[in-house]
Amino acid sequence: MDFFSFSKTELEEELLKAFLPKFRAKQMLDWVYKKGVTDLKSMTNLPLDLRQRTALGVSILPLREKLIQQSTDGTKKALLQLNDGEFIESVYIPEGDRATVCFSSQVGCAMGCSFCATGQSGFVRNLDPGEIVGQLYYWQYSKGFPITNAVAMGQGEPFLNWDNFQKAIGILTDPDCFGIGARHLTVSTCGIAPKIRELAYLPWQINLSVSLHAPLDKLRSQIMPINRRYPLKELMEAIVEYIRVTNRRVTFEYTVIPEFNDGEENANLLIGLLDKMLCHVNIIPLNPLAGKSENLEAAEKFVKLLDKKLNVTLRRSRGADIDAACGQLKQKQVYE
Ligand code: SF4
Repeated sequence: MDFFSFSKTELEEELLKAFLPKFRAKQMLDWVYKKGVTDLKSMTNLPLDLRQRTALGVSILPLREKLIQQSTDGTKKALLQLNDGEFIESVYIPEGDRATVCFSSQVGCAMGCSFCATGQSGFVRNLDPGEIVGQLYYWQYSKGFPITNAVAMGQGEPFLNWDNFQKAIGILTDPDCFGIGARHLTVSTCGIAPKIRELAYLPWQINLSVSLHAPLDKLRSQIMPINRRYPLKELMEAIVEYIRVTNRRVTFEYTVIPEFNDGEENANLLIGLLDKMLCHVNIIPLNPLAGKSENLEAAEKFVKLLDKKLNVTLRRSRGADIDAACGQLKQKQVYE
């Protein structure tokens, strides 16, 4: 099994099965997560048979970098290869004293959102917990870029890989493992309503972000097929319950598609939908890669229509000079 998929307890059990004392688990975790050492031979306080891997069949293999792109604004995007040859993307976004990693939860995605390159290429498989943890490990230790925050906003729908995602969160937040605070983690969903309700009752502090992108079912269903399964009424009821139970603020993502989901009517519908809700709305210009100024102008106009009625931010697109949109780097490297 991949070392990065082990919780501390599981590693202790593995050691006990090999007739080794469980305190070796803490020593191994310290080497990997505190010192960034993944070569067993260099773990000098471990007994020789453990260092030579004869005592424990655990491999510690960080994700392999196939390609990395760097934007002029400091954003970096990596194409990472998994052990079975599949690829995933992960993005590092430095911003002042914060550095956020946008990580993937699946290879491909079954959700088919029309504006998303990943959605267009279909679902391949779920990531295992170690492949999720491994993305943060790659940035912080293989590359040496410290992380303050992480969002599951790369490829895939985390709620559809929920068991592995939950396990990865456990490893990431364990102070003896990766040790990032739960409040610095965000799960992002296209709107799997029952899972939002489930999240509300977990004893976690992680944040919730919802891709909304339209204030009306007839618009949202055109660009997000999931809306036919969980229409806005059901989705909003789940979010209201989440806020009531957790008292945590929800973030909504809204990509402005000119002459589709912008204008005064849609602004008023959005205000009505989110009225008095404990939330923040990120307005995102469509397709920054195309560099179209009308997309930015449309987003700016939409923000003005919402301003003072909703808690709203125009999100600068980061890494616009690299293949920044979700799935684009992989598509270029793997499919072209
Ligand atoms: S936007 Fe997210 S949920 Fe939609 S297809 Fe892309 S990866 Fe999947």
